[in-house]
Amino acid sequence: MIISNDTDRSKYSNVWVVAEVLSGRIQPVTHELIGAARTLADKSGSQVWVVVMGSGIAGQAGSLFPYGADKVILIDDEKLSGFNDEIEAKTMERLISKYYPEVIIFAATTRGRALAPRVAVVTNCGLTADCTELGIDPQNGDLLQTRPAFGGNIMATIRSSNHRPQMATVRPRVMKAPVPIPGRTGEVITEFVMDEDTTGAKKILEIFHSQESTVNLGDAQIIIAGGRAMKGPKGFELLKTLAAKVNGAVGASRAAVDAGWISYAHQVGQTGQTVQTKVYIACGISGQIQHLVGMQSCDLIIAIDKNPDTPMMQMADIAIVGDLFEVIPEVIDELSRE
Ligand SMILES: Cc1cc2nc3c(=O)[nH]c(=O)nc-3n(C[C@H](O)[C@H](O)[C@H](O)COP(=O)(O)OP(=O)(O)OC[C@H]3O[C@@H](n4cnc5c(N)ncnc54)[C@H](O)[C@@H]3O)c2cc1C
Repeated sequence: MIISNDTDRSKYSNVWVVAEVLSGRIQPVTHELIGAARTLADKSGSQVWVVVMGSGIAGQAGSLFPYGADKVILIDDEKLSGFNDEIEAKTMERLISKYYPEVIIFAATTRGRALAPRVAVVTNCGLTADCTELGIDPQNGDLLQTRPAFGGNIMATIRSSNHRPQMATVRPRVMKAPVPIPGRTGEVITEFVMDEDTTGAKKILEIFHSQESTVNLGDAQIIIAGGRAMKGPKGFELLKTLAAKVNGAVGASRAAVDAGWISYAHQVGQTGQTVQTKVYIACGISGQIQHLVGMQSCDLIIAIDKNPDTPMMQMADIAIVGDLFEVIPEVIDELSRE
């Protein structure tokens, strides 16, 4: 066991990212985390290291340097082929006690949400889940971990002043992935899974994938999202027609989902999906903070609302004041004429 209340903070340096690996592929959220880590590391004059754990992934390690990684710790082992958070947590514990990272960022995915708390427990350190913003306190180097709190009514900034490493999970698509710099390189450090890491760990007998009914809003370039103003499933049919015209996907506020007008798979926001599309069209969504945290990083936000003063209308790049049952059919007609 490491590290609790370790008063010698000078041992700890560098910002680590734990790469998201699924089915033997490093996932794009890793690039987003590296971008965030790069900003933190530049502020604190340290390096970005990425821990890549998986099976058959050695060939992908180099792909992380253009995004801002300085070093990659590569653990390529068959025992890591299915996701086994017990083995990964013990491996992480050993790496932490060897290299002393100051900050570790995980993706707030199913995998990251399983692994990060285990690492926090074995290292006896704090963990802030679902951060939407990260910063560094210039006075003392503390990681400033901002996330919605109290049902999203406030944004809380949390710090772990007495414990190192400081750990946070960040939702996919909250941070922008940096533009890769071709030719940027770094160092690969090869590490291994040791016998002690696997002692007592559960064995994965079989992996099977459930029939995926989830709408993957994350892959969409354009989302047309509807709120309470859609009035019912028929309103969403209108949005589906528009979405089909522009090759987009349909999103929804929680109010619409709770009303049963559209399934939860379409919900955007704190308790739904986080999206980072090129275009987000909010139709009759007032823009409460719990919705905004799920879409505020979209490139172009267009809002349609009768009320020009809603938070969504105020934050939108283009705000259309009007009745959406008049505006949307007009847009569909216009697109049909093209
Ligand atoms: C713990 C917690 C988690 C939550 N998580 C989420 C989440 O993940 N996602 C989420 O969305 N919400 C979430 N919420 C709920 C959130 O607080 C809001 O209640 C919800 O987002 C409101 O949905 P809405 O904007 O569709 O409805 P409203 O706030 O009622 O807004 C409706 C808007 O439609 C406009 N309008 C009405 N009629 C028309 C018309 N004909 N034409 C044009 N405009 C019209 C109105 O002016 C209004 O601005 C959460 C709440 C809590 C407490």
